[in-house]
Amino acid sequence: MIYFDHNATTPPAPAVVAAMLPVFEQLWANPSSQHGPGQGAKRALSAARASTARALGCKAQEVVFTSGATEANHMAVRGLLAAAGHGRRRVLFSAVEHAGHLRLARALAEAGVPVGFLPVCSDGTLDTTAAAGLIGPDVALVSLMAANNETGVLMPVAEVAALAHAAGAALHVDATQFIGKLPFDFARFGADAVSLSAHKFNGPKGVGALLLRQGQPFVPQTLGSQERGRRGGTENLPGIVGMAAALELLGGGDDVAAEAARQAALRDALERGLCALPAVHVWGQGAPRLPGTSYLRFGRVSADVVLNRLERLGVAASSGAACSSGGSEPSHVLGAMGVPRDEALAAVRLSLGRMSRADDVAHLLSALPPLLEPLLREEHAALA
Ligand code: PLP
Repeated sequence: MIYFDHNATTPPAPAVVAAMLPVFEQLWANPSSQHGPGQGAKRALSAARASTARALGCKAQEVVFTSGATEANHMAVRGLLAAAGHGRRRVLFSAVEHAGHLRLARALAEAGVPVGFLPVCSDGTLDTTAAAGLIGPDVALVSLMAANNETGVLMPVAEVAALAHAAGAALHVDATQFIGKLPFDFARFGADAVSLSAHKFNGPKGVGALLLRQGQPFVPQTLGSQERGRRGGTENLPGIVGMAAALELLGGGDDVAAEAARQAALRDALERGLCALPAVHVWGQGAPRLPGTSYLRFGRVSADVVLNRLERLGVAASSGAACSSGGSEPSHVLGAMGVPRDEALAAVRLSLGRMSRADDVAHLLSALPPLLEPLLREEHAALA
């Protein structure tokens, strides 16, 4: 199987699994227990926290381990909002946040919190002029993703940080798709809180972190003594150790940049080859993007049909549509970019990762066009 769905999840690296197994077998005691085995687990937790902090450019005490990015996102928004100064109640989200995060936006709005959305331009980049107009003195926080999971388009974190901080608001960044794909350093990133999820960078599922800038006002949302009182609940030590191992495998910033360049070259070759077909459109192609992400449509051929052809070729990929009861809803990201419904329902995402090779791209480029050409010709004839 050729796996081109790395933005959905990545396979755990063998070294990650190897690092986790002894934790299941030997370090299963509760890190909060006072006895010897508990203290052994606590030492492993501290070591994993220190190495996570080193890899992400933050202090150990700025790492709050969570069950993943969804939890980190929710606790960041609710925790920063609850701690915001008097008169600051508005929360701004970008219009293209992850679907789970936009559900939180809806829930807050239903509970009476003033919620606003930062629009994007037709290429998926943030409309920074509109953002500057919206980030005012009533804003408690802005919640913005670093990179979009569908288009791969990067968001101007430093610019929005400057706008938010000038207005006295906090900035939360969902860096779930960014970390592991591009060099990241919390101390220089500009955000007050950053979410991440280990399974997006060859770590285990069900574990992630919220990086919370030291001194940042924050009201805990899950009460308990763990994580310095910021997130209660017995820590997922095997997951945390696995995440630390995955971060270590990424290497330093130069290694991440070199891997990004390798993936970008593969992705560009893939897009060049596919764009030789008639009526292929790539979203966000001219914008700064994640290196391995390609979001495209083949005319208006439905994504389901394209994915079915890909499956036949042994290629796993994703559509941009969200499944809802009774059918597919076009992507809210493409909707925010102003893409018409029939085009959005043709959206297919190919996302490459560390195990992607030139042979995978060559296979897809030799096998897919003959399967799609007749469909594209048919569509062209019907439109003529
Ligand atoms: N945020 C973004 C941008 C994502 O792509 C994802 C996962 O697809 C999430 C949040 C949620 O991550 P998790 O399911 O690991 O909590």
